[in-house]
Amino acid sequence: MALSGLDIYKLLPKTNCKECGFATCLAFAMALAQKKVSLDKCPHITAQAKEALESASQPPIKLVTIGTGENRIEIGNETVMYRHEQKFFHPAAIGVVLEDDLAEEDLDGTISEIGRLKFDRVGQTIGVNLVCVKNTSGYQNKFVSAVKHVMTMPDLNIALSSRDSISMNEALKVCKEKRPLLICEDQAKIADFIKIAKENNLPIAITCATLEDAAMLTEKAKQSGVSEIVLNIKSKDMAGHIQDFTFIRRMALKKNFRALGYPIIAFADPAEEDIELAEAVSYISKYAGIVMINNTVPEFVFPVLVARQDIYQDPQKPVQVEPKIYEIGKANKHSPVLITTNFSITYFTVAGEVESSKVPSYIICCDSEGMSVLTAWAAEKFTAEKISETLEKSGIKDIVGHRKVIIPGYVSVLSGKLEEISGWKVSVGPREASGIPNFLRNWK
Ligand code: SF4
Repeated sequence: MALSGLDIYKLLPKTNCKECGFATCLAFAMALAQKKVSLDKCPHITAQAKEALESASQPPIKLVTIGTGENRIEIGNETVMYRHEQKFFHPAAIGVVLEDDLAEEDLDGTISEIGRLKFDRVGQTIGVNLVCVKNTSGYQNKFVSAVKHVMTMPDLNIALSSRDSISMNEALKVCKEKRPLLICEDQAKIADFIKIAKENNLPIAITCATLEDAAMLTEKAKQSGVSEIVLNIKSKDMAGHIQDFTFIRRMALKKNFRALGYPIIAFADPAEEDIELAEAVSYISKYAGIVMINNTVPEFVFPVLVARQDIYQDPQKPVQVEPKIYEIGKANKHSPVLITTNFSITYFTVAGEVESSKVPSYIICCDSEGMSVLTAWAAEKFTAEKISETLEKSGIKDIVGHRKVIIPGYVSVLSGKLEEISGWKVSVGPREASGIPNFLRNWK
Protein backbone atom coordinates (compact mmCIF):
# COMPACT_ATOMS: atom_id res chain seq x y z
CA MET A 1 0.00 0.00 0.00
CA ALA A 2 1.15 3.53 -0.71
CA LEU A 3 2.53 5.40 2.28
CA SER A 4 0.74 8.50 3.54
CA GLY A 5 2.50 11.85 3.91
CA LEU A 6 2.82 11.27 7.65
CA ASP A 7 4.31 7.78 7.15
CA ILE A 8 6.90 9.32 4.82
CA TYR A 9 7.59 12.20 7.23
CA LYS A 10 8.54 9.72 9.97
CA LEU A 11 11.36 8.46 7.72
CA LEU A 12 12.78 11.91 6.86
CA PRO A 13 15.60 13.69 8.81
CA LYS A 14 13.12 16.32 10.17
CA THR A 15 15.73 19.10 10.14
CA ASN A 16 13.71 21.45 7.90
CA CYS A 17 16.94 22.45 6.11
CA LYS A 18 14.99 23.48 2.98
CA GLU A 19 17.57 22.04 0.57
CA CYS A 20 14.81 20.10 -1.22
CA GLY A 21 13.08 23.36 -2.09
CA PHE A 22 10.32 22.88 0.48
CA ALA A 23 10.00 24.92 3.66
CA THR A 24 9.70 21.87 5.89
CA CYS A 25 10.28 18.13 5.84
CA LEU A 26 6.53 17.70 6.31
CA ALA A 27 5.77 19.74 3.18
CA PHE A 28 8.27 17.61 1.24
CA ALA A 29 6.65 14.42 2.62
CA MET A 30 3.19 15.55 1.54
CA ALA A 31 4.46 16.37 -1.96
CA LEU A 32 6.21 12.99 -2.16
CA ALA A 33 3.03 11.16 -1.13
CA GLN A 34 1.22 12.87 -4.01
CA LYS A 35 4.09 11.93 -6.36
CA LYS A 36 4.75 15.64 -7.11
CA VAL A 37 8.44 15.40 -6.27
CA SER A 38 11.11 12.71 -6.40
CA LEU A 39 12.87 11.26 -3.40
CA ASP A 40 16.34 12.28 -4.59
CA LYS A 41 15.55 15.96 -3.93
CA CYS A 42 16.40 15.32 -0.28
CA PRO A 43 20.19 14.84 -0.02
CA HIS A 44 20.09 13.91 3.67
CA ILE A 45 17.87 10.87 3.61
CA THR A 46 19.43 7.72 5.09
CA ALA A 47 20.01 4.62 2.96
CA GLN A 48 17.60 2.67 5.16
CA ALA A 49 14.80 5.24 4.77
CA LYS A 50 15.49 5.43 1.05
CA GLU A 51 15.06 1.69 0.64
CA ALA A 52 11.81 1.71 2.63
CA LEU A 53 10.40 4.61 0.64
CA GLU A 54 11.43 3.26 -2.75
CA SER A 55 9.86 -0.13 -2.12
CA ALA A 56 6.66 1.55 -0.83
CA SER A 57 6.45 3.63 -3.99
CA GLN A 58 6.25 0.50 -6.21
CA PRO A 59 2.71 -0.51 -7.26
CA PRO A 60 1.40 -3.38 -5.07
CA ILE A 61 0.59 -5.46 -8.17
CA LYS A 62 3.22 -5.36 -10.89
CA LEU A 63 2.20 -4.02 -14.29
CA VAL A 64 2.87 -6.66 -16.96
CA THR A 65 2.79 -5.93 -20.68
CA ILE A 66 2.16 -8.61 -23.30
CA GLY A 67 2.48 -7.71 -26.95
CA THR A 68 3.48 -4.43 -28.54
CA GLY A 69 1.80 -1.49 -30.23
CA GLU A 70 -1.76 -0.36 -29.76
CA ASN A 71 -3.16 -3.88 -29.28
CA ARG A 72 -0.78 -4.75 -26.44
CA ILE A 73 -2.21 -6.04 -23.21
CA GLU A 74 -1.44 -4.37 -19.89
CA ILE A 75 -2.48 -6.19 -16.74
CA GLY A 76 -1.89 -5.70 -13.03
CA ASN A 77 -1.23 -2.39 -11.27
CA GLU A 78 -4.63 -2.57 -9.57
CA THR A 79 -5.10 -0.72 -6.31
CA VAL A 80 -8.47 -1.78 -4.89
CA MET A 81 -10.27 -4.98 -3.89
CA TYR A 82 -13.69 -3.73 -4.97
CA ARG A 83 -14.57 -1.66 -7.99
CA HIS A 84 -16.74 0.77 -6.00
CA GLU A 85 -13.72 1.79 -3.88
CA GLN A 86 -12.31 3.56 -6.95
CA LYS A 87 -12.18 1.54 -10.19
CA PHE A 88 -10.29 -1.31 -11.81
CA PHE A 89 -7.65 0.05 -14.15
CA HIS A 90 -6.52 -2.68 -16.55
CA PRO A 91 -9.29 -4.82 -18.05
CA ALA A 92 -8.71 -8.56 -17.90
CA ALA A 93 -7.44 -9.86 -21.24
CA ILE A 94 -9.62 -12.58 -22.76
CA GLY A 95 -7.82 -15.31 -24.66
CA VAL A 96 -8.62 -18.53 -26.46
CA VAL A 97 -6.56 -21.69 -26.06
CA LEU A 98 -5.37 -23.24 -29.32
CA GLU A 99 -4.06 -26.81 -29.01
CA ASP A 100 -1.23 -27.56 -31.45
CA ASP A 101 -2.45 -31.12 -32.09
CA LEU A 102 -5.27 -29.88 -34.34
CA ALA A 103 -5.10 -30.81 -38.02
CA GLU A 104 -3.76 -28.01 -40.28
CA GLU A 105 -7.18 -27.26 -41.77
CA ASP A 106 -8.77 -27.15 -38.31
CA LEU A 107 -6.05 -24.77 -37.13
CA ASP A 108 -6.93 -22.35 -39.93
CA GLY A 109 -10.64 -22.62 -39.21
CA THR A 110 -10.22 -22.06 -35.47
CA ILE A 111 -7.87 -19.10 -35.93
CA SER A 112 -10.20 -17.35 -38.34
CA GLU A 113 -13.09 -17.99 -35.91
CA ILE A 114 -11.04 -16.36 -33.14
CA GLY A 115 -10.23 -13.41 -35.39
CA ARG A 116 -13.95 -12.82 -35.92
CA LEU A 117 -14.70 -12.60 -32.18
CA LYS A 118 -15.26 -8.84 -32.18
CA PHE A 119 -18.54 -7.13 -31.32
CA ASP A 120 -19.94 -3.63 -31.04
CA ARG A 121 -21.69 -2.93 -27.76
CA VAL A 122 -22.86 0.43 -26.44
CA GLY A 123 -20.64 2.20 -28.92
CA GLN A 124 -17.48 0.28 -28.01
CA THR A 125 -15.75 -2.57 -29.82
CA ILE A 126 -15.12 -5.55 -27.57
CA GLY A 127 -13.11 -8.57 -28.60
CA VAL A 128 -10.71 -11.37 -27.77
CA ASN A 129 -7.15 -10.15 -27.05
CA LEU A 130 -4.87 -13.14 -27.36
CA VAL A 131 -4.38 -16.74 -28.39
CA CYS A 132 -2.61 -19.19 -26.11
CA VAL A 133 -0.85 -21.78 -28.25
CA LYS A 134 -0.59 -24.93 -26.16
CA ASN A 135 2.03 -27.55 -26.92
CA THR A 136 -0.43 -30.40 -26.31
CA SER A 137 1.18 -32.59 -28.98
CA GLY A 138 4.55 -32.49 -27.26
CA TYR A 139 6.13 -32.06 -30.71
CA GLN A 140 8.33 -29.09 -31.51
CA ASN A 141 7.33 -28.84 -35.20
CA LYS A 142 3.61 -28.87 -34.43
CA PHE A 143 4.05 -26.17 -31.79
CA VAL A 144 5.99 -23.94 -34.19
CA SER A 145 3.52 -24.56 -36.99
CA ALA A 146 0.56 -23.55 -34.79
CA VAL A 147 2.38 -20.36 -33.77
CA LYS A 148 3.01 -19.55 -37.44
CA HIS A 149 -0.74 -19.83 -38.09
CA VAL A 150 -1.51 -17.41 -35.23
CA MET A 151 1.06 -14.97 -36.60
CA THR A 152 -1.29 -14.46 -39.57
CA MET A 153 -3.62 -12.55 -37.21
CA PRO A 154 -1.73 -9.29 -36.51
CA ASP A 155 -4.32 -7.96 -34.02
CA LEU A 156 -3.99 -10.90 -31.65
CA ASN A 157 -1.36 -11.22 -28.94
CA ILE A 158 0.24 -14.55 -28.17
CA ALA A 159 0.88 -16.72 -25.14
CA LEU A 160 3.05 -19.82 -25.53
CA SER A 161 2.37 -22.72 -23.21
CA SER A 162 4.74 -25.68 -23.06
CA ARG A 163 6.56 -28.08 -20.75
CA ASP A 164 9.62 -28.08 -22.99
CA SER A 165 12.13 -25.23 -23.08
CA ILE A 166 13.59 -26.29 -26.45
CA SER A 167 10.17 -26.12 -28.12
CA MET A 168 9.65 -22.76 -26.43
CA ASN A 169 12.90 -21.42 -27.87
CA GLU A 170 11.95 -22.65 -31.35
CA ALA A 171 8.49 -21.06 -31.16
CA LEU A 172 10.06 -17.80 -30.03
CA LYS A 173 12.10 -17.64 -33.24
CA VAL A 174 8.78 -17.22 -35.04
CA CYS A 175 7.00 -14.76 -32.74
CA LYS A 176 9.47 -13.06 -30.42
CA GLU A 177 8.81 -9.62 -31.88
CA LYS A 178 5.19 -9.90 -30.68
CA ARG A 179 6.40 -10.05 -27.07
CA PRO A 180 4.47 -13.20 -26.14
CA LEU A 181 3.76 -14.41 -22.62
CA LEU A 182 5.75 -17.56 -21.85
CA ILE A 183 3.80 -20.09 -19.79
CA CYS A 184 5.96 -22.67 -18.06
CA GLU A 185 3.67 -25.65 -17.52
CA ASP A 186 6.18 -27.69 -15.57
CA GLN A 187 7.35 -26.34 -12.23
CA ALA A 188 10.46 -28.54 -12.41
CA LYS A 189 11.59 -26.71 -15.58
CA ILE A 190 11.10 -23.20 -14.27
CA ALA A 191 14.81 -22.35 -14.21
CA ASP A 192 15.11 -22.99 -17.98
CA PHE A 193 12.04 -20.88 -18.71
CA ILE A 194 13.22 -18.03 -16.50
CA LYS A 195 16.49 -18.06 -18.46
CA ILE A 196 14.58 -17.76 -21.75
CA ALA A 197 12.41 -14.95 -20.38
CA LYS A 198 15.50 -13.09 -19.17
CA GLU A 199 17.43 -13.50 -22.43
CA ASN A 200 14.48 -12.27 -24.48
CA ASN A 201 13.10 -9.70 -22.03
CA LEU A 202 9.67 -11.38 -22.00
CA PRO A 203 6.94 -11.83 -19.39
CA ILE A 204 6.62 -15.29 -17.86
CA ALA A 205 3.70 -17.14 -16.26
CA ILE A 206 4.70 -19.44 -13.43
CA THR A 207 2.53 -22.53 -13.01
CA CYS A 208 2.29 -24.09 -9.56
CA ALA A 209 -0.19 -25.76 -7.26
CA THR A 210 0.19 -23.74 -4.08
CA LEU A 211 0.60 -20.13 -3.07
CA GLU A 212 3.72 -21.01 -1.11
CA ASP A 213 5.33 -22.34 -4.30
CA ALA A 214 4.17 -19.25 -6.18
CA ALA A 215 5.79 -16.92 -3.63
CA MET A 216 9.02 -18.93 -3.72
CA LEU A 217 9.17 -19.06 -7.55
CA THR A 218 8.40 -15.38 -8.11
CA GLU A 219 11.28 -14.48 -5.80
CA LYS A 220 13.51 -16.84 -7.77
CA ALA A 221 12.48 -15.24 -11.08
CA LYS A 222 12.96 -11.76 -9.66
CA GLN A 223 16.43 -12.57 -8.39
CA SER A 224 17.27 -13.91 -11.85
CA GLY A 225 16.35 -10.55 -13.36
CA VAL A 226 12.80 -11.27 -14.61
CA SER A 227 10.31 -8.79 -13.24
CA GLU A 228 7.24 -9.25 -15.44
CA ILE A 229 5.64 -12.30 -13.87
CA VAL A 230 2.11 -13.74 -14.07
CA LEU A 231 0.78 -16.28 -11.57
CA ASN A 232 -0.81 -19.47 -12.91
CA ILE A 233 -2.20 -21.24 -9.82
CA LYS A 234 -3.66 -24.69 -10.42
CA SER A 235 -6.25 -25.03 -7.64
CA LYS A 236 -8.43 -28.11 -7.71
CA ASP A 237 -11.73 -26.41 -8.64
CA MET A 238 -13.39 -23.07 -9.31
CA ALA A 239 -14.04 -22.36 -5.61
CA GLY A 240 -10.38 -23.09 -4.86
CA HIS A 241 -9.29 -20.72 -7.61
CA ILE A 242 -11.50 -17.89 -6.38
CA GLN A 243 -10.23 -18.42 -2.85
CA ASP A 244 -6.59 -18.36 -3.98
CA PHE A 245 -7.05 -15.38 -6.30
CA THR A 246 -8.75 -13.40 -3.52
CA PHE A 247 -5.98 -14.29 -1.10
CA ILE A 248 -3.35 -13.17 -3.61
CA ARG A 249 -5.10 -9.84 -4.13
CA ARG A 250 -5.49 -9.27 -0.39
CA MET A 251 -1.88 -10.12 0.33
CA ALA A 252 -0.68 -7.76 -2.40
CA LEU A 253 -2.93 -4.83 -1.53
CA LYS A 254 -3.43 -5.09 2.21
CA LYS A 255 -0.13 -6.61 3.33
CA ASN A 256 2.09 -5.30 0.53
CA PHE A 257 3.42 -8.86 0.14
CA ARG A 258 5.65 -8.44 -2.90
CA ALA A 259 6.11 -12.14 -3.66
CA LEU A 260 2.42 -12.38 -4.65
CA GLY A 261 2.14 -8.89 -6.11
CA TYR A 262 1.65 -10.06 -9.70
CA PRO A 263 -1.33 -10.42 -12.04
CA ILE A 264 -3.03 -13.80 -12.39
CA ILE A 265 -3.85 -15.93 -15.43
CA ALA A 266 -6.86 -18.27 -15.12
CA PHE A 267 -7.98 -21.09 -17.40
CA ALA A 268 -11.72 -21.77 -17.62
CA ASP A 269 -11.52 -25.26 -19.05
CA PRO A 270 -14.22 -27.63 -17.75
CA ALA A 271 -15.91 -29.83 -20.35
CA GLU A 272 -19.40 -28.41 -19.78
CA GLU A 273 -20.05 -25.17 -21.65
CA ASP A 274 -22.23 -23.59 -18.96
CA ILE A 275 -19.64 -24.25 -16.25
CA GLU A 276 -16.91 -22.85 -18.49
CA LEU A 277 -18.93 -19.65 -18.88
CA ALA A 278 -19.56 -19.43 -15.12
CA GLU A 279 -15.86 -19.92 -14.44
CA ALA A 280 -14.74 -17.35 -17.01
CA VAL A 281 -17.06 -14.66 -15.64
CA SER A 282 -16.13 -15.49 -12.04
CA TYR A 283 -12.42 -15.21 -12.81
CA ILE A 284 -12.95 -11.85 -14.53
CA SER A 285 -14.70 -10.64 -11.36
CA LYS A 286 -12.12 -12.06 -8.93
CA TYR A 287 -9.30 -11.26 -9.83
CA ALA A 288 -7.69 -12.65 -12.98
CA GLY A 289 -5.70 -10.36 -15.27
CA ILE A 290 -6.01 -12.88 -18.12
CA VAL A 291 -8.87 -15.35 -18.59
CA MET A 292 -8.39 -18.15 -21.09
CA ILE A 293 -11.37 -19.98 -22.60
CA ASN A 294 -11.65 -22.87 -25.05
CA ASN A 295 -14.92 -22.05 -26.70
CA THR A 296 -14.95 -19.93 -29.87
CA VAL A 297 -18.70 -19.87 -30.45
CA PRO A 298 -19.75 -16.19 -30.62
CA GLU A 299 -22.83 -16.81 -28.42
CA PHE A 300 -20.47 -18.11 -25.73
CA VAL A 301 -17.74 -15.49 -26.06
CA PHE A 302 -20.03 -12.44 -26.20
CA PRO A 303 -21.32 -12.69 -22.58
CA VAL A 304 -17.75 -13.19 -21.36
CA LEU A 305 -16.70 -9.98 -23.13
CA VAL A 306 -19.76 -8.13 -21.85
CA ALA A 307 -18.96 -9.18 -18.27
CA ARG A 308 -15.42 -7.83 -18.70
CA GLN A 309 -16.70 -4.59 -20.23
CA ASP A 310 -19.16 -4.02 -17.38
CA ILE A 311 -16.81 -4.89 -14.53
CA TYR A 312 -14.02 -2.69 -15.82
CA GLN A 313 -16.28 0.27 -16.51
CA ASP A 314 -15.39 3.21 -14.26
CA PRO A 315 -18.40 3.33 -11.88
CA GLN A 316 -18.09 7.11 -11.67
CA LYS A 317 -18.16 7.62 -15.44
CA PRO A 318 -21.21 6.21 -17.21
CA VAL A 319 -20.64 5.24 -20.83
CA GLN A 320 -21.97 8.11 -22.89
CA VAL A 321 -22.86 8.77 -26.49
CA GLU A 322 -22.34 12.14 -28.12
CA PRO A 323 -25.32 14.42 -27.47
CA LYS A 324 -26.64 15.00 -31.00
CA ILE A 325 -29.26 13.91 -33.55
CA TYR A 326 -29.07 10.28 -34.66
CA GLU A 327 -30.86 9.21 -37.81
CA ILE A 328 -32.25 5.69 -37.74
CA GLY A 329 -33.14 4.38 -41.19
CA LYS A 330 -33.83 6.73 -44.07
CA ALA A 331 -35.63 9.40 -42.09
CA ASN A 332 -37.18 12.45 -43.80
CA LYS A 333 -38.91 15.65 -42.81
CA HIS A 334 -42.08 13.76 -41.81
CA SER A 335 -40.30 11.26 -39.54
CA PRO A 336 -40.90 11.03 -35.80
CA VAL A 337 -38.49 12.74 -33.40
CA LEU A 338 -37.72 11.02 -30.11
CA ILE A 339 -35.69 12.59 -27.34
CA THR A 340 -33.80 10.75 -24.64
CA THR A 341 -30.64 11.05 -22.55
CA ASN A 342 -27.07 10.36 -23.67
CA PHE A 343 -26.51 7.37 -21.36
CA SER A 344 -25.09 4.84 -23.79
CA ILE A 345 -27.23 1.92 -22.71
CA THR A 346 -30.37 4.07 -22.89
CA TYR A 347 -29.51 5.31 -26.37
CA PHE A 348 -28.61 1.90 -27.79
CA THR A 349 -31.72 0.30 -26.26
CA VAL A 350 -33.96 2.99 -27.77
CA ALA A 351 -32.09 2.88 -31.11
CA GLY A 352 -32.46 -0.91 -31.28
CA GLU A 353 -36.22 -0.71 -30.75
CA VAL A 354 -36.62 2.14 -33.26
CA GLU A 355 -34.70 0.06 -35.78
CA SER A 356 -36.89 -2.96 -35.19
CA SER A 357 -40.03 -0.81 -35.65
CA LYS A 358 -38.91 -0.20 -39.27
CA VAL A 359 -40.15 3.39 -38.88
CA PRO A 360 -37.30 5.71 -39.93
CA SER A 361 -36.89 8.23 -37.10
CA TYR A 362 -34.63 10.77 -35.46
CA ILE A 363 -33.37 10.28 -31.93
CA ILE A 364 -31.99 13.33 -30.16
CA CYS A 365 -29.71 12.62 -27.22
CA CYS A 366 -29.84 15.36 -24.65
CA ASP A 367 -26.61 15.94 -22.72
CA SER A 368 -27.48 14.43 -19.33
CA GLU A 369 -23.84 13.73 -18.37
CA GLY A 370 -24.40 10.09 -19.23
CA MET A 371 -27.28 9.51 -16.81
CA SER A 372 -30.30 7.35 -17.59
CA VAL A 373 -33.72 8.95 -17.98
CA LEU A 374 -35.05 8.76 -14.42
CA THR A 375 -31.68 9.48 -12.80
CA ALA A 376 -31.15 12.49 -15.07
CA TRP A 377 -34.65 13.76 -14.35
CA ALA A 378 -34.10 13.41 -10.57
CA ALA A 379 -30.74 15.18 -10.89
CA GLU A 380 -32.33 17.96 -12.98
CA LYS A 381 -30.24 17.10 -16.03
CA PHE A 382 -33.28 16.14 -18.11
CA THR A 383 -35.79 18.90 -17.45
CA ALA A 384 -38.30 20.68 -19.67
CA GLU A 385 -35.87 23.60 -19.97
CA LYS A 386 -32.96 21.32 -20.91
CA ILE A 387 -35.02 19.43 -23.51
CA SER A 388 -36.34 22.68 -24.96
CA GLU A 389 -32.81 24.05 -25.22
CA THR A 390 -31.63 20.80 -26.87
CA LEU A 391 -34.45 20.97 -29.44
CA GLU A 392 -33.50 24.53 -30.20
CA LYS A 393 -29.76 24.01 -30.49
CA SER A 394 -29.72 20.59 -32.16
CA GLY A 395 -30.85 21.91 -35.55
CA ILE A 396 -33.77 19.47 -35.75
CA LYS A 397 -36.06 22.35 -36.71
CA ASP A 398 -34.24 22.60 -40.02
CA ILE A 399 -34.49 18.86 -40.64
CA VAL A 400 -38.15 18.05 -40.00
CA GLY A 401 -41.18 19.94 -41.19
CA HIS A 402 -43.30 19.28 -38.09
CA ARG A 403 -42.95 20.30 -34.44
CA LYS A 404 -43.79 17.08 -32.65
CA VAL A 405 -41.48 15.39 -30.16
CA ILE A 406 -41.79 12.10 -28.29
CA ILE A 407 -40.49 12.01 -24.71
CA PRO A 408 -39.90 8.89 -22.57
CA GLY A 409 -42.97 7.67 -20.66
CA TYR A 410 -41.13 7.89 -17.34
CA VAL A 411 -40.94 11.69 -17.62
CA SER A 412 -44.53 12.28 -18.75
CA VAL A 413 -44.71 14.88 -15.99
CA LEU A 414 -42.57 17.18 -18.17
CA SER A 415 -44.98 17.26 -21.11
CA GLY A 416 -47.08 20.31 -20.13
CA LYS A 417 -44.17 22.58 -19.30
CA LEU A 418 -42.17 21.39 -22.31
CA GLU A 419 -45.02 22.23 -24.70
CA GLU A 420 -45.35 25.61 -23.10
CA ILE A 421 -41.71 26.68 -23.31
CA SER A 422 -40.64 24.95 -26.52
CA GLY A 423 -43.70 25.38 -28.69
CA TRP A 424 -43.39 21.70 -29.74
CA LYS A 425 -46.32 19.31 -29.45
CA VAL A 426 -45.27 16.65 -26.97
CA SER A 427 -46.28 12.98 -27.16
CA VAL A 428 -45.55 10.76 -24.21
CA GLY A 429 -43.87 7.58 -25.41
CA PRO A 430 -43.89 4.22 -23.66
CA ARG A 431 -42.17 3.75 -20.31
CA GLU A 432 -40.21 0.75 -21.50
CA ALA A 433 -38.23 0.77 -24.75
CA SER A 434 -39.88 -2.50 -25.76
CA GLY A 435 -43.10 -0.52 -26.36
CA ILE A 436 -41.44 1.76 -28.94
CA PRO A 437 -42.08 -0.33 -32.12
CA ASN A 438 -45.82 -0.47 -31.53
CA PHE A 439 -45.88 3.20 -30.53
CA LEU A 440 -44.04 4.35 -33.64
CA ARG A 441 -46.12 2.29 -36.02
CA ASN A 442 -49.22 4.13 -34.73
CA TRP A 443 -47.57 7.55 -34.48
CA LYS A 444 -49.06 10.37 -36.52
FE1 SF4 B 1 13.83 17.83 5.15
FE2 SF4 B 1 15.41 16.65 3.41
FE3 SF4 B 1 13.93 18.73 2.64
FE4 SF4 B 1 15.99 19.10 4.30
S1 SF4 B 1 16.09 18.41 2.19
S2 SF4 B 1 13.91 19.94 4.46
S3 SF4 B 1 15.94 17.23 5.46
S4 SF4 B 1 13.20 16.78 3.35
